[in-house]
Order: sequence, then C-alpha cells, then structure tokens
Amino acid sequence: MRTFGCQMNKHDSERIAGLLEAHGYARAETPEDADVVVFNTCCVRERADERLRGQVASLASAKRERGLVIAVGGCIAQRDGERLLRQLPHVDVVFGTHNVARLPELLAAAEESGGARVETVSSTTDFTSDLPSDRERPWHSWVPIAVGCDNFCTYCVVPYVRGRERSRPLEDVVAEVERLAADGVVEVTLLGQNVNSYGRDLYGKPRFAEVLRRVAGTGVERVRFTTSHPKDLSDETIEVMAATPHACRYLHLPVQSGSDRVLEAMHRRYTQEAYLALVDRLYAAMPDLALSTDVIVGFPGETDEDFEQTMRVVEAARYDQAFTFIYSPREGTPASRMTGRVPRSVAQARFDRLVAAVQASALAKNREYVGRTERILVEGPSKRDPRVLVGRTGSNKVVHAPVPEGTSAGNLAGVLLDVAVEEAQTWFLLGRIVP
Ligand code: SAH
Ligand code: SF4
Repeated sequence: MRTFGCQMNKHDSERIAGLLEAHGYARAETPEDADVVVFNTCCVRERADERLRGQVASLASAKRERGLVIAVGGCIAQRDGERLLRQLPHVDVVFGTHNVARLPELLAAAEESGGARVETVSSTTDFTSDLPSDRERPWHSWVPIAVGCDNFCTYCVVPYVRGRERSRPLEDVVAEVERLAADGVVEVTLLGQNVNSYGRDLYGKPRFAEVLRRVAGTGVERVRFTTSHPKDLSDETIEVMAATPHACRYLHLPVQSGSDRVLEAMHRRYTQEAYLALVDRLYAAMPDLALSTDVIVGFPGETDEDFEQTMRVVEAARYDQAFTFIYSPREGTPASRMTGRVPRSVAQARFDRLVAAVQASALAKNREYVGRTERILVEGPSKRDPRVLVGRTGSNKVVHAPVPEGTSAGNLAGVLLDVAVEEAQTWFLLGRIVP
C-alpha cells in the first residue's frame, strides 16, 4: 500500500489493507516482495498529482519480469478513470473513491483475464467503515462521520472527487467507537471534510456537538476530529469540547487567508473579524487549546496588502502549527479560471515569510509547556535513538523522553504516561517520565 494525501486517504488505506487481508492477501515486507501494489492517491495540489506517475513508472520492470499487479485508487483515480490507463499503461486496476469495497473483485478479474479493470462510480451511500481494517497504529482508529463536501471553495478539487457531503448515522458512529474501545483503541479521530456540517442530510439533523458528546461518552480515552470549517463551528461544539476531558485540546481550523477580499474570492464565507472572534471564544473556553491551520498564499489576485492581512491573523491566532501551501491551480475549479496569477517568486517570498512567522508562533506556544506535567500517548521508540520514546499530548505536541529503566519504548506503545516537560523546541518538547 502506498498512500498519499489526507487523513481520509490514510483511513481508506487501512480499510483497503484490512479488506485484502480478509481475501487472503498479506502485507509484503518490501516492494520487491510484493505481487500487488495499491496506490491510494491525492490530487488536491499538483505536487501530489505528479508523484504517482514517477512511482508507477519505477515499477515497470517488476511488472514485465514478474507480473506485478498495479492498482490505483483514491482521488486521481476518481478524477481520471479510464484516462489513467492511457497515461499509465502499466496500471491494471483503477478504482474510485466510492469503489473501495470492490477492489478484491477487480484485482481477481484483472489477474484472471490479464486485462485492465476500471470502476469509478460518482457516489454511493456506503461507508468504508463497514469494511475490515488493518490499523497502522493498533491503539488509534480513524472514524469517518461524513464523506464528501458541499462547500466548493473555489480553489478546491475535493467536492469533485469525493462527491457531495453524506453523513453517517449517529448510531453507526457511536457503535463503531464502542467496538473500537472494547478492542483496546485508546484514541479515535473523527473524520470529515467539514465535521461541523455533520448531519444536515440525516433524519432529525443530528449536530456534530452531539456526535462529540456521544463519542466522548463511550469511554474511549481520546477523541480528535478534523476538519472544522470556521463558518460552521458552533458555540455548542466549543462547550462540549470544553466540558469533556476526553476531547483533545487541539483544533485544526483552516483560515486559508486573512484578507476579506481573498476569502470572498475563495468562497469561504467568513471574514477575518469573524474568524478571530471565533478564535477568541475558543481560547476563552479552553485557555490551553492548541490551534492549527491551513494557509494558501498566491491565490489569484492576492496583493501584498492581502498577504499582510494573512500575516496579521497568524500573529493574532497564536497558532501551534500551520500547513502552508502555495496556490496550485486545479483543472475544473473556478479559481483556475480567475485572472491575476501571482508570479512564483512573489508567492515564494510570501510563503517564506509565512513559514518563519509560524515557526516563531509554534516555539512561543511550546515554551509555555516547560515546567508543566503533561499526559502523553506513547507512539514508540524514536527513529534515531531506541532509548528515547516518542509520544503525543492531547494538544498534539510531540514529546521525546528517555525510556524508563527496565522497559522498552516498543512495549509502551499505546500507553498513557505523565511527562514533566523540561525543554521546548519548535516542533517537539523534551521531558522526563514521571514515575
Ligand atoms: N476539508 C479540509 C481539507 C481540504 S484539502 C478543509 O476544508 O480544510 C487540505 C488543504 O489543502 C486545504 O485546507 C487548503 O489549504 C489546501 N488546498 C486545497 N486546494 C488547494 C490548491 N488548489 N492549492 C493550494 N492549496 C490547496
Ligand atoms: Fe475543499 Fe473547501 Fe470542502 Fe475543504 S471545505 S474540502 S477546502 S471545498
């Protein structure tokens, strides 16, 4: 399995792996050992789009020599369908974002006939969570509560490749989390392109705040969720978050731009003032909240003054982390037809200033942790040093700490421990396990 892109793709990949295992496949240790390679793709930006082509090309000789089967799923597959076979003739199976459950049959048919198979339907009511799963981290599970998106931000391809928003019935979500908790899962991440608009398409219109309250009530230790569209984050959700210790003190709240003019052209449907007022309410309810965001620079027509407004938000919001992107035109989206292309060098200069501001903000936030005791969920040993364990706080801070005497970091994976934080770096904290 090779996975590109967002958490939804990571989740789908765990389902694909689980489904294939249920059909008698086993995970190959190395690409050289594999009989089948499945790519789960992303096309949200051009860079992600390009990666697939090189990787498929590099498998050409394995295909010739030992009949390797190549399957491509995810957002590129959904977008390109049959076209993909003409561009990448080595591919055997193309399956869309709504066809995950059909993969075993498509693979079997392709292997039997030696001919390529393509299946991309435009929508389905099925959730992949009904499929088995092979969790990458046994103690963590992704739980989709809604798929697709109705927002049509003008730069974004997601609504075209993931379809309209469909919510999963509340009782299904709760039942799955109960099963997961019984199975030893400590942390769940509720997924949706916009979790805050959950339920509008369901009978009785259950709200996201109810999902959060019910999921937190299952007894699962940690509940995360992503993504929150600022226009739909309700005060009720903030209240529920603040009231339950199971809800992690971390929120991803993509701002995209600080300029009202650009926000309007992006069709984001909030202003800088409304966004910052929301951030104030969040910090007032949860002073220890960690906040992250997504920012796009170089959107068509973005001026220096527009960008200064983005910098202003980054200062004011005190972000712990930001995912920063240079605008990438996506075919078929309204923004790709807008005038006022920002020269690459200008976009790059803005990007560099933005990254520096985000780093300063992240370090300032991390310094507030020094001297505090924080509970971490251990993920395992550090890649560089097996005597150091890596874990995460509820606020999503990576923490490094020496492995306590007589234990191994591998055995502690999935365990909650208290850490005294001693030092702050930009992207992680250093500490010591409190016995
Ligand atoms: N539903 C989520 C995730 C969308 S894709 C949300 O609304 O936040 C993740 C991020 O990729 C977006 O938040 C945006 O910052 C970025 N992105 C999407 N399309 C882009 C494009 N055409 N160019 C650059 N960045 C883009
Ligand atoms: Fe894309 Fe906007 Fe939907 Fe997020 S909310 S997936 S950015 S259209």
